[in-house]
Amino acid sequence: MKKTLWSRLIICYLISTVTVFVLLNTYGMSLLKERIKKDQVNLLYKEASLIANSYRGNIFEGNGGFDDLALRFTSIDNYLNIRVWIVSRNGQIVADSSNVSNPPDINLYDIDPDFLSKNLSENTILGGLLSEPMLSVIHRVDYNFQLRGFIVLHSPMSEIDSKANLYLDVANICFLLFFPLLLIIFVYIYNITVRPLKNSIKAAKEYSSGNYDYKLSTRGSGEFLELNAALTYMAQELSKLDDYQKKFVANISHDFRSPLTSIKGYAEAIMDGTIPADMQAKYLNIIIDETERLNKLTSGLLELNRFDTRSALLDIVSFDINQVIKKTAASFEGACRNKKITLNLVFAAEETYVDADMGKIQQVLYNLIDNAIKFSHNNSQIRVSTEEKGDKVFVSVKDYGIGIPKDAVKKIWDRFYKTDASRGRDKKGTGLGLSIAKEIIQAHNENINVISTEGVGSEFIFSLKRTVE
Ligand code: ADP
Repeated sequence: MKKTLWSRLIICYLISTVTVFVLLNTYGMSLLKERIKKDQVNLLYKEASLIANSYRGNIFEGNGGFDDLALRFTSIDNYLNIRVWIVSRNGQIVADSSNVSNPPDINLYDIDPDFLSKNLSENTILGGLLSEPMLSVIHRVDYNFQLRGFIVLHSPMSEIDSKANLYLDVANICFLLFFPLLLIIFVYIYNITVRPLKNSIKAAKEYSSGNYDYKLSTRGSGEFLELNAALTYMAQELSKLDDYQKKFVANISHDFRSPLTSIKGYAEAIMDGTIPADMQAKYLNIIIDETERLNKLTSGLLELNRFDTRSALLDIVSFDINQVIKKTAASFEGACRNKKITLNLVFAAEETYVDADMGKIQQVLYNLIDNAIKFSHNNSQIRVSTEEKGDKVFVSVKDYGIGIPKDAVKKIWDRFYKTDASRGRDKKGTGLGLSIAKEIIQAHNENINVISTEGVGSEFIFSLKRTVE
């Protein structure tokens, strides 16, 4: 049988009910009998001492006969079902409540010499003198330090059993009534646990088959609500990842296909002579540019993948950020000359040491300055500056170029994103530069932001941790 929660609950239910039933009828029964017997013994003792105290004179001192006791004995016998014997000190039964006027002419010492020496005797038969096994209490009566006789009270043992059976029957009936109630409790437990769990399982199956829109019921108690919320969140994240992957593959195929198409087209045209020899250099240059773009795309993707898989380990060292800015700016000398752009470097101090991965920060600077030049007009200026604030250093790359439209400002950090304006202008761009810059800065636990106005210019600012001397 499949071990479902329901089957386990049923097994628990059966085990608990059978256990309680068996315990009640065995251990419970013996406890009950003991208790009833104890009560009966107490009652017999109490009755015996009452008789002794009230009638000692009549019985043992010879102050009158037993006649006035007859009524009392008969009522004890009839109503309490207790047989009373008055026994003389030499063991002779002198009065018997079951036959007050004619007690049996029997000496108890003859039947059982030990009987009168005990206080309590169970299952007393006394050689057939008693018609059924009795619980007997023997009360010794002393007067002036002398034994005067005994008051012996008998109560049938069967009465204890029948009383115990009666109580047990009541307990069993209550238990039988409790049975269905217990079943209802188990069904309730099933409802509040297995049902919501089944809902969650169904949802998990739907999500795993790609149906992320499946609506999970919001019913259930605390823990299940939490589980469902976690499942819904997981589905949303999976859905986003799924969308991202689809978009990613579409973008990659598109970005790879266009340079490959032009490379193939120009190479074929050169091969079959469509492009004359004197024009070939121009088209070979285009092929080289396109190859470079493919190269850039591949390295960009690899770089981002390293951050995605958390395998991009940072090599944090302390270095002078001014030197890195100068070095990076120098690599753009040619590009700046072509566009007649002036690159101004403004440093907060002669030396500003920061704790960071030098190679990666150089890459951030490269991407930002590259963009600033790409999106600047000819004959304009670009300012790269540093500012020290507390334990932070802020590096800014500011241009006076085309700027970024308001609705695009948030999207520029997305992978493959390019504004419409830049698509026409910058055919070489991959749309990965800023994503990489952001990943690098975030891996340093720092921030990167942009302030931009379309048609006015853009300023990219990122923070770094200052080296503590
Ligand atoms: P790309 O390789 O296209 O430059 P990026 O991720 O570096 O990719 O930039 C994404 C987009 O953000 C660019 O295509 C451009 O539209 C916009 N952008 C980035 N930097 C600037 C800037 N300095 N001025 C104007 N637009 C910019």
